[in-house]
Amino acid sequence: MFTRKEEIQWICPQCGSTETSEIYTYVSAAEEPRCTQKILDTSLFRMKCRKCGRTEYNTGPLFYADENRKIFFAMGEHSDPEAMLANHISLGYTARKVPEIVDLCEKILIDQDGLDDRIVEIMKAANAVILKGQAYDQMLYAPDEDTVYFELIKDAASLGRIPFLQAMYDDLNERFKEDLENEADETEINAEWAVHFFAEHYHPAE
Ligand SMILES: [Zn+2]
Repeated sequence: MFTRKEEIQWICPQCGSTETSEIYTYVSAAEEPRCTQKILDTSLFRMKCRKCGRTEYNTGPLFYADENRKIFFAMGEHSDPEAMLANHISLGYTARKVPEIVDLCEKILIDQDGLDDRIVEIMKAANAVILKGQAYDQMLYAPDEDTVYFELIKDAASLGRIPFLQAMYDDLNERFKEDLENEADETEINAEWAVHFFAEHYHPAE
């Protein structure tokens, strides 16, 4: 068994009660396939105060592995995730470090849609150029019923959505395929990574 749970104590911010909850510290999707959906709807992280009913969220650290899809994500503040990440990379996994629940969900959704998260981050960097002047905290990959969007988030609320253009993805994938193959294994694929990658590899026709 890879899946691991542990009991943690937390103090309810609403009523001050000391609560004990059982939380996941390692999710193996091969062992517990239903956990993936529970992550996506955030119920896996929910902790309820038995006294006043307040809901809080466990923000990690959590390891998530899908042994069939060969993905491994380390969410939150692990004391030393590098050995685990490197070990999974050596086993052919795509391994990523993500800060929060929302980032873990995004990585899972991108993988479920068969996309390369590096190209998705490059798309966001390109979109940011187009949206110059618009202030937002995050641009999230957000598949809807039958359409895919990027959702702009500011102060934890949605500012609106812009369409995910498959043709743009395909074009960027084609253009940067070789560069990405030669990239060193990088586990933090986010906006910062994309800006650096873009600066290094994007050469507009002269
Ligand atoms: Zn309470």
